[in-house]
Amino acid sequence: MQAVAAAELKQIFLNDIYAIPDGERINQCQQCGTCSSSCPTAARMDFSPREIIAALRAGLLDRVLESNTVWMCSSCYSCTVRCPAGIKFTDVMYELKRLGSRYGYINRKSTTAQMARVFVKTVDRTGRSNEGELMFRYFMATNPLKGLGKLGLSLKLLLKNRLPLRTHRIKQRESLKKMIAEAEKGA
Ligand code: SF4
Ligand code: SF4
Repeated sequence: MQAVAAAELKQIFLNDIYAIPDGERINQCQQCGTCSSSCPTAARMDFSPREIIAALRAGLLDRVLESNTVWMCSSCYSCTVRCPAGIKFTDVMYELKRLGSRYGYINRKSTTAQMARVFVKTVDRTGRSNEGELMFRYFMATNPLKGLGKLGLSLKLLLKNRLPLRTHRIKQRESLKKMIAEAEKGA
């Protein structure tokens, strides 16, 4: 994981946002709050979408990255389609997730980042998601005791054939790996 100074981090963030089509519109935020009032998960976020832009302007990027906000975003795009300034706010959330993961700014209280990590690992390895493997790895990484409490439910799902034990790998996984490697180069 790379360590980076606050000023450099901000510059990396802005460069990445400006590289998105219409990314420079982030500077035209009117603080109207339409994004926050449209967001289904804003009430659970440390910083609402509107507050994120205010915090970025105030030079608080590190606090935003360490908050639970980006991991509460469900990528529903309501903020993006409703923003009167045409800001692609969902893409801003994706960029914040990438930055936080790359430079080690992780919210300590939220386990959603951990869930995202095990999901990516599973898909990277097999080309598919497997709910059983995903939940097993997630609980092992976060709270194994809580995982034990889900054994009854897992058994019920297994008996109804709703929880696959084996992950079927996709064909041509090497092609997928190459695509991911190329995407990571540009990330
Ligand atoms: S809806 Fe757009 S202009 Fe309004 S606060 Fe959110 S990002 Fe800013
Ligand atoms: S995309 Fe994320 S930030 Fe935007 S409204 Fe949906 S959940 Fe909220």
